[in-house]
Amino acid sequence: EKLASIPKESFLFGPSPIQCLPRLTAALGDKVRIYAKRDDCSSGLAYGGNKVRKLEYLVADAKAKHATHLVSVGGVQSNHTRAVTATATASGLNAVTVQEKWVPIDPPLYDQTGNILLSRLMGGDVRLNNEPFHIGHKTATQEAFAEIEKAGGKPYYIPAGASDHELGGLGFTNFVVELAEQEQTLKLPFFDTLLVCSVTGSSHAGLIVGAVAEGRGRKVIGIDASGKPAETKAQVARIARNTARLLDVKLVIPDEAIVLDERFHAGIYGIPGPGTIEAMKLAARTDALITDPVYEGKSMDGMIQLIKEGTIKPGSTVLYVHLGGQPALNAYSSYFGGEEL
Ligand code: PLP
Repeated sequence: EKLASIPKESFLFGPSPIQCLPRLTAALGDKVRIYAKRDDCSSGLAYGGNKVRKLEYLVADAKAKHATHLVSVGGVQSNHTRAVTATATASGLNAVTVQEKWVPIDPPLYDQTGNILLSRLMGGDVRLNNEPFHIGHKTATQEAFAEIEKAGGKPYYIPAGASDHELGGLGFTNFVVELAEQEQTLKLPFFDTLLVCSVTGSSHAGLIVGAVAEGRGRKVIGIDASGKPAETKAQVARIARNTARLLDVKLVIPDEAIVLDERFHAGIYGIPGPGTIEAMKLAARTDALITDPVYEGKSMDGMIQLIKEGTIKPGSTVLYVHLGGQPALNAYSSYFGGEEL
């Protein structure tokens, strides 16, 4: 298989755990069985999360190209830039991360706690600027690039979310291969529905490629948390098709495979809505499953609603793909503090 032949680093503990969520299942009327695959606890590198799985491929490429620095971009509380800093550090490379003002709010300690604190603790070169949210390529990284080159270093560019990169979709294509093996060896049910949060798109895109390549009819439902679903959907489609082409020129990704539900982003990237907070509370208060207000709280809101309204059909076996994000939670404490929850 082509995927197995593409070089990657080894940043994960192994296959990420799969957890049954019986109390959440019961709270939603026992209509579907709900499990979570915990990519939030997949790695020992600075709390892991979805980017680590993607970065296994990108960092291997950076090392093959003799890079000295990884350069990337995200919001102030970006999980991605924390993961870039973590994987760079653990690989003996330097990290420069541009942290932009993707979220137009300033809760207490927003630029000092959570992910950005972890990046600083790891010795990352963290550079704040005021650019707003956008999932595309960013100019601020070019300045860092030029500076590193001038000093004799070799920078390697990683786009936002490690997504719009020729290797960006591979991590989550491999996720599906890993899942199919776990279903076999752990005697788990076949997960007919995968539910995933989508912003820069390569987690979602990789799952689509994996599911289409398998040909077993697994549905992949993306929940938009970007607040700009048209851009996210276009990027998911592009990454999925580029990844498919890279792996197997005959693999066609049909339009129907690209499903992005636009109802749960609460209007904007990075700010939770009432539904987000309610979903976070339900997951936490049933199976002690902790989600964050930027990403997984929104996909949790989506999953709950899709089950309640029957879009995810009764009798389904659902896998909630938990992509991480909890380190940002403390930066959002003002959304939870004070009043009796
Ligand atoms: N969940 C978490 C915790 C993330 O950090 C991200 C990153 O953007 C996502 C979901 C969305 O994943 P992607 O950017 O691959 O669409």
